Amino acid sequence: METTLVILKPSAVLHGYVGQIVQRFQQKGLVVRGMKMMQLSEGLLREHYAHLVDRPFFPFLLRSMQASPVIVMALWGKDAVEVVRMMTGATNGRKALPGTIRGDFSVSGQENIVHASDSIENAEIELKRFFKPDEIFEYIPSSIVYTYEPDELK
Ligand code: UDP
Ligand code: MG
Repeated sequence: METTLVILKPSAVLHGYVGQIVQRFQQKGLVVRGMKMMQLSEGLLREHYAHLVDRPFFPFLLRSMQASPVIVMALWGKDAVEVVRMMTGATNGRKALPGTIRGDFSVSGQENIVHASDSIENAEIELKRFFKPDEIFEYIPSSIVYTYEPDELK
């Protein structure tokens, strides 16, 4: 089982899409193990988007990610990193397939509603970046036995 990081970006918060997006993840079977609202600092964003700081659009990305508080979520499930990335869709909302979150809620390469960790290694790093250890709750809902077969829970 894996835990992955999702950020509901200002484009989700300001459009009032938070509830619908949280619902999609829960409906899929992912367990919310952490969730909070926070205003992202420039320093945290420079660390989180270190691979993009030299790109010409970076100042716009900074402004976009600071336009409002965001919701950060820790989602737990089997192959959670890959499952959540698939649900997220392609980076550019115009290229993201219908049925994905970006495909259904966005038409922009920047204002694309959600961030999702792209690998197991990055999920671990990003969860530590946004959550203190006591903000992640390692409970297992009793309904889990109707979500997975026993072998999948090993
Ligand atoms: N981004 C952008 N223009 C681009 C590429 C990326 O504004 O040409 C923004 C967009 O919000 C994206 C974020 O930078 O979600 C991080 O980019 P990355 O390539 O890591 O894409 P992601 O992992 O979010 O799909
Ligand atoms: Mg990325």
